Amino acid sequence: MKIKFLGATETVTGSKHLVTTEKGFAILLDCGLYQGMGKETDTLNRNLDLTPSEIDVVILSHAHIDHSGNLPLLVKEGFLGSIYCTPPTLEVVEVLLYDSAKIHESDIKYVNKKREQRGEAPIVPLYTTKDVDRCMKHFKTVPYHADYVLNEDATLTFTDAGHILGSAVVNLKIKDISDKIINLTFTGDVGKYNDMLLKNPEPFPQADYIICESTYGDRLHEVDSDAELHLLNVVKDTCVERKGKLIIPAFSLGRTQEIVFILDKLKNKGLLPNIKVYVDSPLSTNVTDIMRENVVCFNEKLQEYIKTDPDPFGFSNLKYIREKEESMALNTSKEPCIIISASGMMDAGRIKHHLRNNISDSKNTILVVGYCTPNSLGRHIRDGQKVVKIFGEEYEVNAKIEVIDSYSAHADYSELLRFLSCQDKTKIKKLFLVHGDIDAKISFKEKLYVEGYKDIIIPNKRESFHLD
Ligand SMILES: [Zn+2]
Repeated sequence: MKIKFLGATETVTGSKHLVTTEKGFAILLDCGLYQGMGKETDTLNRNLDLTPSEIDVVILSHAHIDHSGNLPLLVKEGFLGSIYCTPPTLEVVEVLLYDSAKIHESDIKYVNKKREQRGEAPIVPLYTTKDVDRCMKHFKTVPYHADYVLNEDATLTFTDAGHILGSAVVNLKIKDISDKIINLTFTGDVGKYNDMLLKNPEPFPQADYIICESTYGDRLHEVDSDAELHLLNVVKDTCVERKGKLIIPAFSLGRTQEIVFILDKLKNKGLLPNIKVYVDSPLSTNVTDIMRENVVCFNEKLQEYIKTDPDPFGFSNLKYIREKEESMALNTSKEPCIIISASGMMDAGRIKHHLRNNISDSKNTILVVGYCTPNSLGRHIRDGQKVVKIFGEEYEVNAKIEVIDSYSAHADYSELLRFLSCQDKTKIKKLFLVHGDIDAKISFKEKLYVEGYKDIIIPNKRESFHLD
């Protein structure tokens, strides 16, 4: 069989890998959007680099947009097969894809206004909510641990990746022409061990070939107990001492609920100052509702916690905001408060309005709690730029910038090694590293060699390999 790497090669976004069996059955692993790549982003996303009608099935590792976000375009351009994912992923990906379509539809209005002024013809959005309607009809769910026969030559088994709700490691058994079975594992994104909410990444079946993420291939995380205290100190310093607003840009899925859960714990311990907390994002609100319905998917600690507090994502003083008017009212309020809003990389969503209104006031704090791709607004702020552009205008950064790194949804390098340690490394023929900045991949490659792994490859975009 053959594998061709079509995305997440030089970057951590745009996950897309094409596996083709010797009989020509074409399996696409993820179909994600590139994000935060500046002007290049749109061009990269519009070029799928494959013929959709020639793909037989898609297997989606998890709902994050950099893994799922280009599925509507794939369907729009002629894909006819099924898209397989776990049941919780289907629930989450549905809200994420509709949100993504809305962003594309509204962004294009702005772009076309500019094009019209320059006398240029308008362009169509990457996809619309109607395209998402069509795309959703292609989804089929496969529970964790079930052996699902995709066709006579390919069987799929999902194992828990512990990265976000529903996230899976994709394990494929593929028959070659002489009936020999080849085991190929695609890790998707791998979560941390001892996560606040999620179960640990599970051991997975022995593989001959592994496509492994390497986002934090060069880093170790902070310890969690420090992060809780760090957050409390930032809240006190900003909202009590300086009477300012604490702005927390956070991914709608996972990070938002983690922050809320920590605040919920602090509230239950009587440590949280008496201030208002807002989750200002319709998407985060919808995702939180899905999480509440899927509490069984979370770890034992959380199951224990809900015995005394049935809603880990809600407490007095906390308000979820869907309506635009309520969101705008926060701009004029002078009251100290915490505003958690999306997106995490600060390139889209309501967070941009909160940053524009608050970033130049030294009373306030911007707390960065997630990974930001190079060139994203989040990265510029995180890196300490003194002036940043928001909605095309320059703003001085006078607010305090704080960073807590331990909230990552990704395993660090020691956890990736722990995750891989379920394997007999002498049986692995090739290990491909994707989904990481180049420095992270090179560093992780060296660590893997030291651990005794052989034949580690950092594939380039559009590079193909024959696997036997
Ligand atoms: Zn992810």
